[in-house]
Amino acid sequence: MRLWIKDPLAILADDAERGIVVDGSLIAELVPAGREPALPVDAVFDAGEHVVIPGLINTHHHFYQTLTRALPAALDKELFPWLQALYPVWARLDEEALRSAVRVAMAELMLSGCTTTTDHHYVFPAGLENAIDIEVEVAKQLGMRAVLTRGSMNLSVRDGGLPPDSVVQDEDTILEDSQRLIEAHHERGAGAMVQIALAPCSPFSVTRSLMGRTAELAARFDVRLHTHLAETQDENAFCVEKFGCRPLDYLEDCGWLNDRVWLAHGIHFDEAEIGRLAAAGISVSHCACSNQALASGMCPVHGMERAGVAVGLGWDGSASADSSNLMQEVRAAFLLQRLQYGVTAVSHRDALRWATAGSAACIGRPDLGRIAAGFQADLALFKLDELRFAGHGNPLAALVLCGAHRADQVMIAGRWTVEQGSIPGLDIAELARSHQAISRRMTGAA
Ligand SMILES: [Zn+2]
Repeated sequence: MRLWIKDPLAILADDAERGIVVDGSLIAELVPAGREPALPVDAVFDAGEHVVIPGLINTHHHFYQTLTRALPAALDKELFPWLQALYPVWARLDEEALRSAVRVAMAELMLSGCTTTTDHHYVFPAGLENAIDIEVEVAKQLGMRAVLTRGSMNLSVRDGGLPPDSVVQDEDTILEDSQRLIEAHHERGAGAMVQIALAPCSPFSVTRSLMGRTAELAARFDVRLHTHLAETQDENAFCVEKFGCRPLDYLEDCGWLNDRVWLAHGIHFDEAEIGRLAAAGISVSHCACSNQALASGMCPVHGMERAGVAVGLGWDGSASADSSNLMQEVRAAFLLQRLQYGVTAVSHRDALRWATAGSAACIGRPDLGRIAAGFQADLALFKLDELRFAGHGNPLAALVLCGAHRADQVMIAGRWTVEQGSIPGLDIAELARSHQAISRRMTGAA
């Protein structure tokens, strides 16, 4: 079926003033000014009130944290004490709670214009060994493209790590399950809807041995690798004290300096380290909202890009950034980087590029992140009919500057998954109610 998304108010693509033609799951054609589609079309979507951008790609998240947003015990804490306040609560995660959390986070993300998301899930209490299988199931139900990372923690307080014993697993269990998940769910090639990546959590919750063996497994099965790195000064201090080196040296020692790796945060790298990231082909997920909320610092995005490091955007956990809105993340990243580098160095187009083409590079997906012929038909369409946009000039700039937060239409692989601001078949009000009840049960709040 050939669908012409016709005459958009604005579009983030060159030579597509009259819109684009979607054929099946792909963008088939861009229609320049004064032209018609080259071949007949079967249907037309009038986009005269819509700003059309590539679907946003979220490169870092922890869906289960939607259950512990704004938790009183974790308020006003930096990363390490914040984690220590939350680990015992997360240890109570069960199947019903996770299923609800994945549904909530994915729905929030899609409604914000996100078409592909990652999730970094690393909490596997007894009875929740099938956590990633649950995530796959929900992604398929919602029709969302997903790169689900098999996270892991095996270094507890007993062995000098940060998390309690109740939330860690042993190394062989983790590696066996990682292989099982790749074999069961990982799709390869252009158009893949579900992919698996491997993601030991952080230097302070994973052993050196698990880091190394996970990298070997990823190479053997050709899947991507992900972890948190250089998020806080506390992490730097931990690495110097425990390993006698800085986080990037530790990563190299574990066999991780290669181009299948993307890192969450990347805040506390020095110039020489940024050069090493570029040389290795490692990319970085910038999480502006989370980094501000936890006062972790600021990822030097502009400097990284100048050095040749690809940078994408991630929301990070819904307990540090407290919601899951990737369009808001675009604005947060834009403002933060502009504050650091100045108005001429950072434009609204840069921020949109980080969340699309930049994020696609992070997850190793050359078929995503651009509106161009042959790319996947993953699109986000925004209307500018809210009060916040009244009086706007440049529609694309207005998305970022006026604070767009809700897409009107979202297309994933050629299929509308959000229509007129709703997800067909999903009762959002009921989902919010039941999720709140599950969260109360888990956190013990009255
Ligand atoms: Zn994170």
